[in-house]
Amino acid sequence: MSPSHLQNSNAAIDTPPRPPTPEHRFGTLAVHSGAHHDPTTGAVIAPISLSTTFAQTGVGKPVGAYEYTRSANPNRDNFEQAVAALEHAKYALAFSSGSATTATILQSLAAGSHVVSVSDVYGGTHRYFTKVAAAHGVHVTFSPCIEVDVEELIRPNETKLVWIETPSNPTLGLVDIRKVASIAHQHGILVVVDNTFMSPYIQNPLDHGADIVVHSVTKYINGHSDVLMGVAAFNSDALKERLSFLQNAIGAVPSPFDCWLAHRGLKTLHLRAREATRNATTVAEALEASPLVQSVNYPGLNSHPQRAVALKQHRDGMGGGMLSFRIKGGQEAAERFCQNTRIFTLAESLGGIESLVEVPSSMTHAGIPREQREAAGVFDDLVRMSCGIEDADDLKADVLRALEKSAITSKSDAANGQA
Ligand SMILES: *Cc1c(COP(=O)(O)O)cnc(C)c1O
Repeated sequence: MSPSHLQNSNAAIDTPPRPPTPEHRFGTLAVHSGAHHDPTTGAVIAPISLSTTFAQTGVGKPVGAYEYTRSANPNRDNFEQAVAALEHAKYALAFSSGSATTATILQSLAAGSHVVSVSDVYGGTHRYFTKVAAAHGVHVTFSPCIEVDVEELIRPNETKLVWIETPSNPTLGLVDIRKVASIAHQHGILVVVDNTFMSPYIQNPLDHGADIVVHSVTKYINGHSDVLMGVAAFNSDALKERLSFLQNAIGAVPSPFDCWLAHRGLKTLHLRAREATRNATTVAEALEASPLVQSVNYPGLNSHPQRAVALKQHRDGMGGGMLSFRIKGGQEAAERFCQNTRIFTLAESLGGIESLVEVPSSMTHAGIPREQREAAGVFDDLVRMSCGIEDADDLKADVLRALEKSAITSKSDAANGQA
């Protein structure tokens, strides 16, 4: 290769496309944020930096920005930049799972700290709050109606964090983030929102007053059910210092390969979130119209009790890809329904391109005592669905067929005098 050829190729690469800026819209940011061209080869897609260590030219003088992969890695940086752009945050930090993200945030609190949380948190979050945080002297109070009683539950000088999950799992109840944040902020308390169910495409909690937004990247952000990962995004420099210290000190970090995969997944988030919403809306409307269904929980329906919050907090009032419903015929009908769907796979998790169905009372929420579970609306006949990006008409037909099959048996139960 002649020196002039090298010079020419370098000259071409020295004028990379301008990075996206906040005035760009979501799709442009999703495709281009953190997606730098490789400065030496011009590769449009970043290589996977598997190296755990980076050469130094002198003692304490690394060649570039990197020394050791736990502290920082190019693929993790790229992914974090992309999430920060999509969540309207200055910073984002990636972790080895959504649960590791939660754990790291809780570990940033001093012993003796108090947290107020919504009752309907993700099961693993509830487990960490009650079984792990308590061992480190951090105590959590749960509230079923946090908008109303957060003020009452705040303990002067002790409460450091308010934890919100909206929509809730699996009943899709919504919390008005702005309402809770304005009360918390009057007391100097930080607000965390778990935004896993909506994804940054549909809801940006920092815009509604939250201080930290967290995701299980495992779900919508990666979107292909093949990566376990988490992320937290925020604007405060003090949080950046504290949480990146803990990210490195605790070391619950994702691999470069997982960061690369999740970054690839994130580039199509807007397409997937729109399609999943379209599909869930079609399925929710079909369920609501069916005489075999008792009730439907979906924030995209006008019948949803907090529809006004969805209109205020979600992009275009979108409902997302998750819904749940109570089937007529009890637990047996719910179980039969999940076994009778052909496109919806019976499995835990959510947010992937493929549709999933489950019965929370016997699967994801089986660990919660019945009384507590039913108080939150999680009855034995509740079915939870994650709508993927298949065709809406196929999903609707699959659901209606499975309903009929499950209900036929229910009718014969009734004929046998069991109803
Ligand atoms: C899955 C999930 C988590 C936990 O994330 P992992 O990546 O499985 O550790 C936290 N919050 C919500 C809402 C989730 O759905």
